[in-house]
Parts: sequence; structure tokens; C-alpha cells
Amino acid sequence: MRMSKMLMPTLREVSGDVEIESHRLMLKAGLIRKMASGVYNYLPLGLKALRQIEQIIRDEMNDAGAQEILTSALIPSELWEESGRYQAYGPELMRLKDRNNHEFCLGPTHEEVFTAIARQEIKSYKQLPMNLYQIQTKYRDEIRPRYGMMRSREFLMKDAYSFDKDQAGLDHSFQVMKETYQRIFERCGLKAIGVEADSGSIGGSNSMEFMVPSVVGEDDIVHCPNCHYTANIEKAVSYLETEAMTNPLELQEVATPNVHTIEEVAAFFNTDFKKTVKTLIYTADQQTIAVMIRGDREVNDTKVKNYLNLTEDIVLADEITVQACTHAKIGFAGPIGLEADHLLVDAEVPGIENMITGANKDDCHYQNVNYHRDFEGVVGDFRLVQANDHCPHCQAPLEISRGTEVGHIFKLGTKYSEAMNAQFLDENGKSQPLVMGCYGIGVSRVLASVIEQHHDDKGIIWPKSVAPYQVTILIMNMKDEQQIKTAESLYAQLKKAHAEVLLDDRNERAGVKFNDADLLGIPLRITVGKSIAEHQVEIKARHEQDTHYIDIDDVLHYCLNDENDMSAA
Ligand code: ATP
Ligand code: MG
Repeated sequence: MRMSKMLMPTLREVSGDVEIESHRLMLKAGLIRKMASGVYNYLPLGLKALRQIEQIIRDEMNDAGAQEILTSALIPSELWEESGRYQAYGPELMRLKDRNNHEFCLGPTHEEVFTAIARQEIKSYKQLPMNLYQIQTKYRDEIRPRYGMMRSREFLMKDAYSFDKDQAGLDHSFQVMKETYQRIFERCGLKAIGVEADSGSIGGSNSMEFMVPSVVGEDDIVHCPNCHYTANIEKAVSYLETEAMTNPLELQEVATPNVHTIEEVAAFFNTDFKKTVKTLIYTADQQTIAVMIRGDREVNDTKVKNYLNLTEDIVLADEITVQACTHAKIGFAGPIGLEADHLLVDAEVPGIENMITGANKDDCHYQNVNYHRDFEGVVGDFRLVQANDHCPHCQAPLEISRGTEVGHIFKLGTKYSEAMNAQFLDENGKSQPLVMGCYGIGVSRVLASVIEQHHDDKGIIWPKSVAPYQVTILIMNMKDEQQIKTAESLYAQLKKAHAEVLLDDRNERAGVKFNDADLLGIPLRITVGKSIAEHQVEIKARHEQDTHYIDIDDVLHYCLNDENDMSAA
């Protein structure tokens, strides 16, 4: 492609709410342009890189025996009502009506659609296992679209759904996808790690996320440096330290005017946070939920939601609700005399001897509260793991780092096939629900993540596998006929050899061309300048500092040899 003819609107500066480097570089290098909040258009270079990623995904999915289809983004609401998700998905679901007032949604994910296809087309165990996938645009009205392609409202996803006759089949399909995902991310030049992930109310070790370590990631990953236990914080557990009760003291009510926060409570009682217990009151699904947690800890909302099998996310209750539960103003909730639909007690709490809690009375706390003797609730793991908690497997101190989720694989089991009646006839002629798995990759998020992992202060440094072009030829002096002739000849030869090549034949100064070459990040740069007098051109790899010269007659061979293979993937 000739750059003089290409739509490649590079920018000197990027303005607006651009917080991360990949987003800035995608705008600056002219890969994408914003249409609306969380909605983007791809320009030629951006689309070409995106297509490279798609192709890697296609290759690997096809190799794994999956079949590509393409389903509609526009989905009749009835299908989502069958699964029960039309209401449950909430405001993230983009809903619309046609001219006859018929309701539709724009698919944020396609379990319902693929289950409907399977229910119609899969009749017998002889057709199983089957894995169907698509690469298709998804819509989610994200509460906070940000970071460009990382969290957008319209994005490209590869989603796959496997259908098996039994759990063993699903386990196998899941394992195949896990290995396929590892290869896909590796081929894209991405360091991604598989982590145990929350699988909602289905529970179990059914779900794995692929995370790209990144300081701008939106997920917290818990990691054990000793045994390599790795989990998303939503799912992570830590070792429960227990101490034997030795000296339970008598329960005492203490006046604590103006003592509200847990810091104030600990200071007032001149004690460690670890002796204080917070009672937090939430609402969800029209229920009141009290959760007791050690003073220095945070509640893990996901664990609470899963435990109670809630449809809605839990939110802290408003003042009126708190007063109805505690008969006191905010800040004095405790377990004794509390009126809530649920009292969940984090497993650490019963082991705290002589704890301090709110007294459900204005300006009062209790001290020397002891579990069993003074109150009881539903004990479970409701806490968020913190750094230096101990590993559940080997008890080494845990570490927490940030990551971006690029893929998610999930054992669905019969959740959708049962709800939507997708059955097949087994070997004995008996109807059975299909056993399903689902597997997603955020294709556009992968593109952004590749740039996030591969750039410097001058621009993008594409891995060859994803680069929109492999070679760029720069003409230093557009007034020099000989330079133009040499560059044109190299361009023609490389194109003929099916190399993906860009020719910078713009009427621009050499400095502009060098800067743009660095910004665009094409893996190999060939500079045609004064050295043609010695029958040589300058060669530079984008990821290296050094340049060197080679004979003009060796360029084709250089570009196409194994190591530097610049032909189309
Ligand atoms: P997140 O926790 O980041 O919102 P999710 O759990 O909602 O992700 P899935 O429903 O598992 O994501 O979707 C599959 C993949 O699609 C994710 O692994 C991610 O790579 C990508 N993805 C999800 N939401 C977005 C988005 N808003 N913009 C771009 N990619 C997304
Ligand atoms: Mg999401």
C-alpha cells in the first residue's frame, strides 16, 4: 500500500479523556476514531490488525475442530425470556422495539441463540460433541465505558459454545479450549495467564479467565508465589486462621457517642482492628442482607451474591432500611437484636474472642461479644482476600496484582439446555439435555492489550503476527529520482513476493517519515536514502535500536528468509 493514498490520519497530540497508552496510540496512529462514548470506527490500519487477530483465532478454533457460523446480533426478546435473563441482565442489555412494537435486544453474549440453534439442529448423540463459534459484534451498555477498545459498548467477540452428551465430554471440550486459548494468546504475542474465576451461582471450578498482567487492568488477581495458585479476587479464597477461645468475658454495652467508623471504634476501645467486627447491611432482590466481617476487611460482593443465589448485585442499604433493621442510626449495626432477612457471618468472625460490634442502639457498641453465646448466623466465606493473607493450598503469603481479562471459558452444564429445552436422544433413545460450555475472547480488547504490552514512548511495536503490515519502505528525498526508482522497485518486488508492504511515498520530510514509522510500529523498516550510491539501503527492526545496511539486491531475500519472514500470514 502506498502511504500517499492511504487513510492514515496520524495525530501529533491526542486530546480528550484518554487514560491509557493503548487507547492513546490507537488514536494517534490513526487506527480508530470515536463515534460516541464506547463506540469506535476502525480505519484501515486498525482493521487490518484486527483481522490478523481474527485470523489467528479462526486458525486455532478450526484446528481444534470447532465450526464457524455467524448469528444475528438482533435477538427477539422471547429467547432471552426463556432463559430468564431478559430481566436479570439489567440495564447493560441494549433493548429496542421494531415498528410492530415487538421487543428485541442486541446480543451482549449468545448462549440463548446458540442453545436455540442446537435445540433445532442437534437431534442425536451421533452429532456430538459439537463446538460452534462466531466472530461477531457484541453490544453492552457498560456503566462506565473507558480505555477505548478495552471496555467499549460495541466490541468484537469470538464466542464459542460446545455441546456434549455428558460431563466427561464437557470436561474434554473445556480442556481443548483451554489449550487452544493458550496458543491463541501466545500467537498474538500476549502474555496471558489462566486464573480461577467466578462462575456465578453455578459454582465449582467451572470457569477460567485469561488475564493479561497490566497496571491498567480492571481486575485484581490473587497469586501465590510459592504454589502458583491464581484466582480472580472475586473468586479467591485464603487460608482461615483460627485461634482457640480461652477467656470469654462478660458482654458489655458501652456508650460510644460520635464513634462511627471502624477506625474510630478501634481507637475508642484502644484495640486492634482485628478485634472489631463490622456489620454491613445490603439490599438485593428486595431482601435485607447483613454481612459481618472483621474490621480491617472488605466484603466480597460476588461471594455474597452467589451464596444467596441473588439475581441483583448487592448494594449498601439506604438510611431508612438500616434504621428499620437496627432501630438505630447508621454506624451502630451489630448482630444482637438485628432484624434482617439474612445474617451472613464471615468464617473469620466466630474465631474472634471478645469482639466489638455495634449494639443496634444509637451511640452504643458492645464489647466482649462471642459467637454462639451472643449471636448466631450463617457462617461462610464472604471476605475479599487481601495481600499477605495466606494461600489456601500452601499457606504462603498471597500477592495481588492487576490484570485485564481477555478471555473467559466456562462450563455451563445444562443451565441453558434445561431452561430452553434443548435435548438430544442418547444411545438408549432417551431424551437428555445437552451439556454445554461457552468460550469467549474479546477480539478488540486483545488488539488493545497487544499494544498495551508492545509499545515504547515513540509508538507501537507490533508483534509480526498481529502487525497490519510487515515492512515499511521510507523514501528519504522525494526529489531524488534515483531514490524513488529504487524504492519503487523494492516495493514491486516485495509485493510480488506477497509481502505485506507499505511504501512511504508521501511528500514529507525524512523526520516526519521516521516519526510515523516509529508510531505505526511496522516490524521492519527499510530506508532508501543516500546510501543507494553504495547500492545499499538501511534496515531497522522496530523492536531493536540498531540499524545496519544491506545490498539492495539482498533486500528481498532478507525480508523473506525464515527469521524475517514478511509475507502475508
Ligand atoms: P468484564 O469483567 O471485563 O466486564 P465480562 O466477564 O463481562 O468481562 P465475558 O462476558 O466473559 O466478559 O465476555 C467475554 C470476553 O469479552 C471478555 O473476556 C473480554 O475479553 C471481552 N469483553 C467483555 N466486555 C467487554 C467490553 N465492554 N469491551 C471490550 N471487550 C469486552
Ligand atoms: Mg462485563
